[in-house]
Amino acid sequence: MFENKGRTEIENLGEFGLIDHLTKNIKIKNESSLKGIGDDSAVLNFEGKRTLISTDLLLEGIHFDLAYTPLKHLGYKAVQVNLSDIYAMNGTATQITVSIGISSKFPLEAVEELYTGISIACEKYNIDLIGGDTSSSKQGLVISVTSVGYADEDKICYRNGAREGDLICVSGDLGGAYIGLQLLEREKAIFLENPQIQPDLEGKDYIVERQLKPESRKDIIEVLGEINVKPTSMIDVSDGLASEILHICKQSDKGCKIYEEKIPIDPMTYDTARDFGIDPTVCALNGGEDYELLFTIAQSDYEKIKNSADISVIGHITEPSAGCNLISKSDIVHEIKAQGWNAFKKS
Ligand code: ADP
Ligand code: MG
Repeated sequence: MFENKGRTEIENLGEFGLIDHLTKNIKIKNESSLKGIGDDSAVLNFEGKRTLISTDLLLEGIHFDLAYTPLKHLGYKAVQVNLSDIYAMNGTATQITVSIGISSKFPLEAVEELYTGISIACEKYNIDLIGGDTSSSKQGLVISVTSVGYADEDKICYRNGAREGDLICVSGDLGGAYIGLQLLEREKAIFLENPQIQPDLEGKDYIVERQLKPESRKDIIEVLGEINVKPTSMIDVSDGLASEILHICKQSDKGCKIYEEKIPIDPMTYDTARDFGIDPTVCALNGGEDYELLFTIAQSDYEKIKNSADISVIGHITEPSAGCNLISKSDIVHEIKAQGWNAFKKS
């Protein structure tokens, strides 16, 4: 990804030189960022709002594979994944800190690429990069992003607020990031076996982007604000629909009914899953990394959301004793489990 761009050893810059180099063009965009990079701590002021904070750790070889992940995309994704958690609280994200551990295999040019992706995400989502930490690492790349945001106390959406009869909604479509990953993994395996063969991702842009360059759903939070809908509960879809709805039901002490035919799946996701011999519904339920928002709303809010093209109603909340169930296209009731969906084969 970066071998042919010239190679400047980071050692030549030293830690402070590197931090200076990476952060010299950063300008503060939000009023709440009183002090950003350059002191022992950043200083923030949210004036009467509740402060939201969330953090994620990304490890090379565990969370990402540099064989097919461009560093610019990785920087972008590391930020999106993190902002998604703030939006999932119905909050506004305003600041991030970024900590990196880099091994000597990475030249300055590689870290610059990573920071270009981080900066693009910050620019697009109006986020201030207000600090971080920089260290060497013995093996591979480590990235940790912490995001900070705010919300009015009465607007915050927790996982535990779902009520019986509430509608279960999801933004965008599901399963794309997972099937995009399957495609990238397959092309990597082919390439490793025969380096002459170039990756064939033609026409697969959407699902590859869903995997490599996800977008957190700030826009959905804004829409919900505009149409005056406060979800009763909300979570972002990082581990797959099944796992996330179980979190909501467990924390709310409720059950649910989800209708397979209502789960939004993009046609390219659907067709590619079929080509791989994977059930597209399984991709949506267990795939993960879609970074869509899963939320519940009062039935009385249905009129307000029904014309939002990017929000699908996929089921409703029930009393806890009914359990958490998926009603298949052929009307068979399956208990939703966080894992084990691979065993679920549709007739
Ligand atoms: P300290 O010794 O207090 O940890 P550092 O020398 O590590 O300070 O960092 C100096 C400043 O640069 C701090 O404001 C810190 O938050 C910021 N910083 C350090 N590393 C990064 C990074 N990778 N990205 C953004 N800001 C960073
Ligand atoms: Mg430090």
